[in-house]
Amino acid sequence: MNKTKVVILGAGPAGLAAAYGLSANQRLRDRYDVTIYQAGWRAGGKCASGRAGPENRIVQNGTHYLFGCYDSTLAVMRNAYAELGQTGVNDFGDYDKSLLPRDMLALKHRFRGKWRLWPIPLPSNTSVPGLDTGNLRPVDYLSMFLQMLVTFVLGANLGHKLRPSSPFDTDRPMALRAIYAVVWPVLLVVSWAIWALSLLFTHLVADLLWLCGDRHYLSVAKLLSGLRAINRGLLQRPAQRIWTLFQVFTSFDFACTVGIGLLRDKVPALGLSAIENDEFTAWLAKHGAAEQTLAAPFVSTWYDAVAAYEDGDPAKPNLSAGVSMMAIYRALLTFKGHFAFQMRAEVGDTFVGPVYECLRRRGVKFRFFHRVWDIIPGDGDLINEISIEQQVALTSGDPESYAPFITVGGLKVWPEAPNWDQLDLPPDQRPADLDSFYTTWRGQTLPPLRRGRDFDALVLAMPVASLPTSCSRILERSEKWRDMVKNLPGVESQTMRLYFDATLQDLGWNLPTPILSSYAMPFATWEDNGHLAEVETWPAGKAPKSIATLFGPLPAPHLSPPHTDTGYPQTQNDVVTQNTLNFLQNDIGGIWPGATAPSDPNAIDWAKLVDLHGNPTGPARMNFQYLRANCGPLQRYTVAQAGTAKHRLPSDNSQFSNMMLAGDWTQNHYLIGSVEGAIMSGLQASRKICGYPEIVPGENTGL
Ligand SMILES: Cc1cc2nc3c(=O)[nH]c(=O)nc-3n(C[C@H](O)[C@H](O)[C@H](O)COP(=O)(O)OP(=O)(O)OC[C@H]3O[C@@H](n4cnc5c(N)ncnc54)[C@H](O)[C@@H]3O)c2cc1C
Repeated sequence: MNKTKVVILGAGPAGLAAAYGLSANQRLRDRYDVTIYQAGWRAGGKCASGRAGPENRIVQNGTHYLFGCYDSTLAVMRNAYAELGQTGVNDFGDYDKSLLPRDMLALKHRFRGKWRLWPIPLPSNTSVPGLDTGNLRPVDYLSMFLQMLVTFVLGANLGHKLRPSSPFDTDRPMALRAIYAVVWPVLLVVSWAIWALSLLFTHLVADLLWLCGDRHYLSVAKLLSGLRAINRGLLQRPAQRIWTLFQVFTSFDFACTVGIGLLRDKVPALGLSAIENDEFTAWLAKHGAAEQTLAAPFVSTWYDAVAAYEDGDPAKPNLSAGVSMMAIYRALLTFKGHFAFQMRAEVGDTFVGPVYECLRRRGVKFRFFHRVWDIIPGDGDLINEISIEQQVALTSGDPESYAPFITVGGLKVWPEAPNWDQLDLPPDQRPADLDSFYTTWRGQTLPPLRRGRDFDALVLAMPVASLPTSCSRILERSEKWRDMVKNLPGVESQTMRLYFDATLQDLGWNLPTPILSSYAMPFATWEDNGHLAEVETWPAGKAPKSIATLFGPLPAPHLSPPHTDTGYPQTQNDVVTQNTLNFLQNDIGGIWPGATAPSDPNAIDWAKLVDLHGNPTGPARMNFQYLRANCGPLQRYTVAQAGTAKHRLPSDNSQFSNMMLAGDWTQNHYLIGSVEGAIMSGLQASRKICGYPEIVPGENTGL
């Protein structure tokens, strides 16, 4: 039987997920011949990483977490490891050790001129990520809102007080430790009991409300307004002076306002699309949130986490209220096991690598070093041709033979540069930037792929911001495509990874590993990466004692400069270098007081940064750290700005019957720029072609 030929353009998470679906079982593998075309030397897209330098340091575009609510992503990952395990492959480590649970959300806030810390320890649960999946009903949103009210006010604030980070610290007095030993377990049980009761109670209330129907929404909203008024009467003024009261006041005000907004806008009946056009902060203000609440860190943290600032400008936050609510609820209240996970060797080596290897073993073909230039429609609703450049030929002569990994510490990992020995290029012609949109390198233009001969169906899995270059003829023809590209510009971002010769405790951090956000712009988000030193190859005694990644938005033009603007990456990299210097010289003390110099509590003590290149102590030490501008169409973070959901095209309706779409920018129902949205969309594209998988978890978010 002739197989149906499917080409997938782009090997980011979405393209890999499409291939994963199309090759899921032997029946499908007998029916579909799948080939992925990918520019440059590696898979992963915005989740790619690479090993650099003699220390094999893992470098990438910023902070990367998988959240416990990522039902599709974690299922794909778990199955990939399992499948590899069945064929005796253990080149990527054990699945059980690959995910590092993270239960501590930490917010920073400038309160009365001082940076304050708001730690929110989250509970864990017994659900298994990637195994237990489930869809949400509208009523669940209401239930979850009520849960959040209790969680935030009692679970978080009280819970934190009840669960001190390390009660048995040996530097505490013996008597205190003895008291803790008795009191702490009791407090722990009480705090968990409060948590469990709150879940029970809120489910009951939510279900009752649902039964009563929407005529009661306004009555409940009024009740919440009453409660909010009491909170204001009691706490609003003192909350201006006392940090703890600020936390209680704003949490309660936020929770009431969200409830009021959801009920007034009839979200339980209409779904979250009812508030998708509203900007999140503006929506809270419309429903009467206090000024302090609008400025509270649990609001800004959602913007920071996904760089939701128009054109990367911190003065222009923009996030859809509907999508924010969905993301908050999914992240905080539907996680399986833990709120979030870091990956032992980061997202590229721990997640993308095994998925790639699993696909390859299933018979999916990969053509690296193939850059797509033009997707050409015919007269009707079919794509007729795809024009492709082969950037570099392989010495083997077989374009599918490239072996992309190197081995570090016995594990297969992605290098930060191509494996040159497999490429037919003299050593003096080795372009460093083959995976950059702005590379000046040009290889050989291949005869175009033709419908019927080379492909029967295609999956477009390249970033939306790159479509003006590769889909110009489609854009000329279709207003919907033009609207999509115009309304989903994405944002650029910047990152620095710092290698400290000081432990987290030395730096002044005494709580468990946090996911910290809402700090000083432009580097508002901090991820602790100390665990990476174990999988890198530092000389004995020279390994960093802690590693930190900071991340934030980067101002850039509304639409990316064209590929001919080859100096653009350098311009943006220079900006990041300057921003990093400013940050280290002015803002580091508010996050790591122990990293500062005695002479200035805000500025870094350069000697605390690791340097194996012999740079003198001083700003030259930045040369050993990793700084990066994520610029151009391939690196833009997809952001769910208010009112843009309607401009996304779904995977299964591109307006071209032989082309499916896959990417975090599609109408995949998980509209935050994320691995999960990308994986869901890839599975949706696969389903349209081959019917598998029947169900993609998390699709009925009401968006
Ligand atoms: C700094 C940063 C941090 C992030 N952190 C997180 C996080 O913590 N958690 C999370 O869930 N998400 C995170 N994300 C988002 C996540 O990385 C993306 O949502 C996801 O990678 C999108 O997958 P995709 O397949 O849709 O697109 P991409 O990842 O962009 O993949 C597209 C692929 O197409 C290829 N391609 C493009 N043009 C061509 C061409 N012309 N020819 C051939 N190939 C081409 C690209 O090289 C790439 O491999 C982060 C994103 C960024 C930028």
